[in-house]
Amino acid sequence: METKALLEKINYCNSLTSYSRRKTIPVKVGNVVIGGDNPIVVQSMTTVDTMDTIGSVEQCIRMIDSGCQLIRITAPSIKEAENLQNIKDELKKRGYNAPLVADIHFTPNAAEIAAKIVEKVRINPGNYADKKKFEVIEYTDESYQEELDRIRERFLPLVKICKEHGTAMRIGTNHGSLSDRIMSRYGDTPLGMVESALEFLRICEDEEFYDIVISMKSSNTQVMVQAYRLLVQKLEEGNFKPYPLHLGVTEAGDGEDGRIKSAVGIGTLLEDGLGDTVRVSLTEDPEFEAPVAKALVDRYQYRADHEAIAVLSNYPINPFEYNRRETFEVYNFGASNVPRVIADVSAIKEITPKEMKHVGHFYLPELDKWKMNDQGADFVFTGSNPIPFMLPNGMKEIQNYEVWQNTTDAENKFPLLTFEEFLHANRFHQKLNFLFLKDSEVAAAIPFIKERADLVIILKTSNTHTYPALRRAFVYLLEEHCKIPVVPQVAYPQQSDDKTMLYTATDIGGLLVDGLGDGIMIDAQAYRELERETILKQIKLHNSISFGVLQAARTRMSKTEYISCPSCGRTLFDLQETTAMIRKRTDHLKGVKIGIMGCIVNGPGEMADADFGYVGSGKGKITLYRGKEVVKRSVPSEKAVDELIEIIKKDGMWNEPEA
Ligand code: SF4
Repeated sequence: METKALLEKINYCNSLTSYSRRKTIPVKVGNVVIGGDNPIVVQSMTTVDTMDTIGSVEQCIRMIDSGCQLIRITAPSIKEAENLQNIKDELKKRGYNAPLVADIHFTPNAAEIAAKIVEKVRINPGNYADKKKFEVIEYTDESYQEELDRIRERFLPLVKICKEHGTAMRIGTNHGSLSDRIMSRYGDTPLGMVESALEFLRICEDEEFYDIVISMKSSNTQVMVQAYRLLVQKLEEGNFKPYPLHLGVTEAGDGEDGRIKSAVGIGTLLEDGLGDTVRVSLTEDPEFEAPVAKALVDRYQYRADHEAIAVLSNYPINPFEYNRRETFEVYNFGASNVPRVIADVSAIKEITPKEMKHVGHFYLPELDKWKMNDQGADFVFTGSNPIPFMLPNGMKEIQNYEVWQNTTDAENKFPLLTFEEFLHANRFHQKLNFLFLKDSEVAAAIPFIKERADLVIILKTSNTHTYPALRRAFVYLLEEHCKIPVVPQVAYPQQSDDKTMLYTATDIGGLLVDGLGDGIMIDAQAYRELERETILKQIKLHNSISFGVLQAARTRMSKTEYISCPSCGRTLFDLQETTAMIRKRTDHLKGVKIGIMGCIVNGPGEMADADFGYVGSGKGKITLYRGKEVVKRSVPSEKAVDELIEIIKKDGMWNEPEA
């Protein structure tokens, strides 16, 4: 698509250069309103069995106390749907009025009961009226229409009940559980996800029912971002009402990985001004989810005051599909190379071999050898504090230009120049030079650098609207067909470790999802006055965030990926304990994706593109998968991890962990 034409056609967000929240219709959910001019709502989901009234109530209270404004509870059958009344009553008795949402898969009869009790019902259009058989069916236009008529008949009673009782609804599409019908016509694509929701939305609008929130979740952050953008685009094009959006990344996992993955997907969309309610799904107790969601959302409270960014006259990036920006190959940057990690250690004077472990390189003094783990930084930036020993294998050093001019090691050490230094330099490295540019300098620099095949740009902005400001700088480069690789650099020295993680994931993750960026660098200069141990701790954190962001944006796999569900009332085993156990045995399997799902009803669909799956199929029973294919059914849980490893071994994807 021509770039100009593309810009004219983009209406998924108000502005690509100034923060502006998309205006949606307000949807009332009990005492909370989602959308309109209301603040973004934080929500989460219980994990206790819905039949355990007191357990559910106590968990709800912990969630509310942690900042959760809306609580979703699974209702897998009529009895759980009915028990929502008891949970609601008990909560009310204890003085809590947070609205409840019933989560429905496969069971319209449970939905119809729940809709009379709670304030909102979530349906999954992939399985509300369809059973998943993983079949590819050829539809004619007539047979497809017959299917739509069948859905209408099944879905209409719920719409009518919601309308009558003032109950809101979420049409919640999941990438992993699209119906066979949608898969047959659209594949498991963002367009398929959008169409899946629109089929149900058309029925609601025909009935003049508009209290609807929509979501497009996936555990693949690229697919998730594209699907939400495409949804808004299609709502606009189809003259639907501007319904509020519920943002979430499914099966994000736990700990740092889960937080980073959630921020890459949710944060990128919040930057676009999209999103009216957020749920972060972690394989942790649900009271840990709301603070993460809140940290993401709170970042936009004063965002509209950001420094102006030059408006666009064209937009050469397709926001609905992943295309990596075309660049020269400069040394090992750009072209088809994985994005590189540059660890900033410049705040440490006289760094020792032992301290290099903080960036994934381990010195073994007995053997006088170096060992690198999966998160060994590719480059270290030492600024004016050059490394005083021989560099580990696989690692190179970047020095400030004035320091580099005195180096004798041209093989392993490369200069970083400011634009001013670049303009007056009379000596460059033959293969690789780093040019530090602020976003405001990029347009002016292009004529001087455009054809240089020995440059990598380190790009930084001081604009608080960081991702769009950096993206704007990339647009200058794209417009001028400047193919120099770029490493975005960010810095959040005033923020906590958690916020540094979430903000980096949003700002650089957003760029990576758009196909922009050939590396990642987190500036640590601001820590130089702190104690050595504190600086080293930050450096370690930055290195691990860097690899985490590249993995979460699906641009560089450096560790095992766990696609684990957050658990809910359907869960058949202790997900946190089991995830920890599987992680302990398999976390050396770089790039292997393992799905860990609490139930067989939704698990197989929702583990998306996992290579192997560990799915609860009964009390103490596990079913093991290779991709979507069942390999072993009903394995006793005490043997299931060993059996899973056997399957990985048979597939040749196992290697023994190093001692
Ligand atoms: S896959 Fe996990 S979160 Fe989803 S329904 Fe099953 S147990 Fe609940």
